[in-house]
Amino acid sequence: MNYVSTRNSHYKVSAAQAIVAGLAPDGGLFLPESLPSFTQKDLAALAQMDYVERAAEVLSRFLEDFTREELLQMTTRAYAPEKFPPRAVAPVVPLSDNAYILELFRGPTCAFKDFALQLLPYLLTASMRKTGIDKTVVILVATSGDTGKAALEGFADVEGTRICVFYPDGGTSNIQRRQMTTQTGDNVMVFAAKGNFDDAQNGVKQIFTDKVFAEDLAQRGYLLSSANSINWGRLAPQIAYYFSAYCELLNAGKIRMGEHINITVPTGNFGNILAAYFAKHCGLPVGKLICASNRNNVLTDFIQTGVYDRNRDFYLTASPSMDILISSNLERLLYLLCGRDDQRLTGFMSALAAQGKYGIDTPLLEALQAEFAAGCADDAQTARCIHDTLARTGYLCDTHTAVAVDVYQRYVAQTQDQTPTIIASTASPFKFAGSVVPAAYEVQPEQEDFALIAQLETLSGQKAPAALAQLKEKTQRFQTSIQPQEMKQAVSDWLARS
Ligand SMILES: *Cc1c(COP(=O)(O)O)cnc(C)c1O
Repeated sequence: MNYVSTRNSHYKVSAAQAIVAGLAPDGGLFLPESLPSFTQKDLAALAQMDYVERAAEVLSRFLEDFTREELLQMTTRAYAPEKFPPRAVAPVVPLSDNAYILELFRGPTCAFKDFALQLLPYLLTASMRKTGIDKTVVILVATSGDTGKAALEGFADVEGTRICVFYPDGGTSNIQRRQMTTQTGDNVMVFAAKGNFDDAQNGVKQIFTDKVFAEDLAQRGYLLSSANSINWGRLAPQIAYYFSAYCELLNAGKIRMGEHINITVPTGNFGNILAAYFAKHCGLPVGKLICASNRNNVLTDFIQTGVYDRNRDFYLTASPSMDILISSNLERLLYLLCGRDDQRLTGFMSALAAQGKYGIDTPLLEALQAEFAAGCADDAQTARCIHDTLARTGYLCDTHTAVAVDVYQRYVAQTQDQTPTIIASTASPFKFAGSVVPAAYEVQPEQEDFALIAQLETLSGQKAPAALAQLKEKTQRFQTSIQPQEMKQAVSDWLARS
């Protein structure tokens, strides 16, 4: 199976090449030339497997240059019992009669990004071997918080890799900063960069586009790469957990084989919900995909009106990982909805780059709305949903998950659609305790982070994830703060030292 660029259907590479490159040379995103198809017999077989096997099986249909055994070795390491709870890697928990929470936050950094970033280091190093690149891969990440830690945790001590993360000095929560500065591993480096997230991001982009620097690094045996969410190697692992969720519902007797489910996803860059779309178009019986946004509701407007317009105010919300106005992965969906018309897709993307805006015509909008419903929840609605969900069901949601629960409930009220629904829960409530405590229990949250975690433990009667609770005891290894213009030199010096 080949991979093509969304901006040139004739540009074809293997899965391994797509993973190494990340982005196509024309700026397009890679996706499979055709989609694999899973029959009910395949689903029945998946239902008998554990998560590690399910993930390997699903991936093997997309990544044909890897054998099933190679992939199984990778998923065994990525989803190992030291990292995810055995037998409960991606558990499905009933919320109400028809709604089920798919808990994707049981990994080492307590957010769903672990599913992709625990696996990506193995996919990337194996892809380099398959494409004949004999270099150490150097991952550079600019992060506003969650991605940096998930990437560090995934790449730490993985042979043939180095990883360097830049976070905005003073621009993350204390817990997020501590998660990064206490990171163990001989191949990791973390810097605070003066300025905001955009400054750090621009610094990294400049390093990536510096051809002289790339040449210099190549001679020293290094290849720069990114762990960005547009890499196919980050999207593919996410398809597996939707298959797994369906199997869990089958095994629990909640649905019959072949019965349709809906899927609701709290969305930012459109990666997670796109993985659900791929699962559907590979044969998973899925009806509606419900796209949930916070106050940055550019996707809600797009799905409801057909106009994508990023020219609007940007809001900082209680669900910060969804504070995004350009949802990069939407490009892949549009390409497919256009019938793989690369010219038409390129037109939309050029308009987005030039005017920050594009519109689709009625047939395309109808095709979009046949698959997707959309809604948004602001911080007040999110807080009320956390409170009411706890009161009604006893389930404690994080802020991102609550956006999805709220949007799902309004969707059902409007449509009377009683289809069994999976709601993706993308983070542990302990990770966003500062917002969860006042919403759920109507008390003042503690100011200090570890007091806050203890407070949520007492109020909820749940234990905080060990990875967060243990941060207090961990040594801070990385304390250097630099200017954005010093980032390149800092990378070079670090590689010379290590
Ligand atoms: C990244 C993130 C999201 C958004 O996921 P996308 O794939 O970008 O749509 C939602 N919730 C949490 C907790 C996240 O970290």
